[in-house]
Amino acid sequence: MTGSGWPRPRTGHFIGGAWVEAASGRTYPNRSPWSGEVLGEVAAGDGEDAGRAVAAAHAAFGGWARALPHERQRIFLRAADLMESRRDEVLRALALETGCGRHFGGVQVDFALKLLRQAAHLAYRPAGELLPSDVEGTRAMAVRRPVGVVAAIAPWNASVVLAGRATVGPLALGNTVVLKPSEESPYTGGALWAEILHEAGLPAGAFNVVTHAAGEAGGVGDALLDDPLVKRINFTGSTPTGRRLAEKAGRRLKRVLLQLSGQNPLIVAGDADLGYAVDAATYGAFVHQGQVCMCARRVYVERPLAAAFAERFAARAAALPTGDPRDPATVVGPVINEWALALLDRRVKEAVGLGARVLAGGVPEPPCYPATVLADVPDEAEIAQGETFGAVVVLEVVDSAEEAVARANRSDFGLAASIITGDAGRGLRLAAQLDAGIVHVNDQPVNDEPQMPFGGVKDSGWGRFGLGLAAEEFCELQWVTVRDQDRTFPF
Ligand code: ADP
Repeated sequence: MTGSGWPRPRTGHFIGGAWVEAASGRTYPNRSPWSGEVLGEVAAGDGEDAGRAVAAAHAAFGGWARALPHERQRIFLRAADLMESRRDEVLRALALETGCGRHFGGVQVDFALKLLRQAAHLAYRPAGELLPSDVEGTRAMAVRRPVGVVAAIAPWNASVVLAGRATVGPLALGNTVVLKPSEESPYTGGALWAEILHEAGLPAGAFNVVTHAAGEAGGVGDALLDDPLVKRINFTGSTPTGRRLAEKAGRRLKRVLLQLSGQNPLIVAGDADLGYAVDAATYGAFVHQGQVCMCARRVYVERPLAAAFAERFAARAAALPTGDPRDPATVVGPVINEWALALLDRRVKEAVGLGARVLAGGVPEPPCYPATVLADVPDEAEIAQGETFGAVVVLEVVDSAEEAVARANRSDFGLAASIITGDAGRGLRLAAQLDAGIVHVNDQPVNDEPQMPFGGVKDSGWGRFGLGLAAEEFCELQWVTVRDQDRTFPF
């Protein structure tokens, strides 16, 4: 079902080290968001396939958990080298499958390389600690153990990064993984990782991928949730889906790591350098056509800078090249699908109907939605409240950065935020007041590194990705004692 080179006519599930058809034999077409062409047929899996993958992962667990550190380390280092050698091919696949341009494709590959190389080092991380005990003759320790099978559910928007971080940390700690990519990115968010990890020498069954058609994620997701062999789930995606998953997982007392939607503020203080603030906001709002969960969705500007900022920011947005993601000059490529494009259009029109002004963009250019800046957006507009995945940003004038913080904190979300100011100390004070899992001072909000604690508060989720914390999320601590002499018992 797979051959060399991509796109290929058919891509199967990857289960137990082999490419297999869906149990039902069904497939679905993987379409390019830019050209609409069918890139290939992909296995349309269901709960039965998920069950097969979990069984394979469970069977592989003992062997992988016992693999020597140097064996694990070598696999991740080799995987990094393989990914690096395939860089151009991966960039091309990202453009074809997800409409991802060269810049953000490069960001994704660079992240994956660092992730794999840092994960190699995890193999030698201490597996626990000795604990002082008040019971004489008792030696106590906390021993960190892999949990078993980890299920990973990842979205399409940064497919290589988000599938990678959902998978590589848990694997490096000795767990086995079943990955369910988005139906929009079965290759770059799934099969590609299987090819690379398998070629790098990961034992059969340690990593499995189950794909599915649009509208059928629930069957696979429920099977993963319900299976008692799945010990942990990590999920990156929208808040409504994450909430449903957490409700179901709660009934089964299954731990879930949730990385969900954002409505991220970028605050420009009156003492900021105007040119830098405009550069930062342009990148933060429009990178990957605004389809990154960390993108700036609301830009608050202190009144003294507001008029000049709005003029320069709108001019920059209006001039961003829009079109074919394979063209290195393109900044704003296609929106992932027609549904997402229609949602953007509807939300912008709704805001305008409620009195918003369009400073740039605002008219779809299918399959793209050009960089759009809105002002005077009333709070009740959907675009002011929910996450809207696309190159649309709301500009607001505030009397003070403190007011911006208060307004930002009113959001249900709390993923990323950023503050641009001439006074870094003030920036840090404002950061301390922001209800967000991630705050960048004198930068825009779209940043990630594999070792950082990545995650949100409030409706943006719970738990943290980041290899530094992977052990907390994907291992169990076992308290073990051993006596070096017999004890005297009271009866
Ligand atoms: P996004 O808008 O980022 O695609 P979604 O939450 O719809 O956000 O999708 C994120 C991931 O969740 C994708 O892999 C998608 O297939 C999956 N997903 C969607 N619905 C469900 C569900 N009911 N159960 C499990 N996973 C789901």
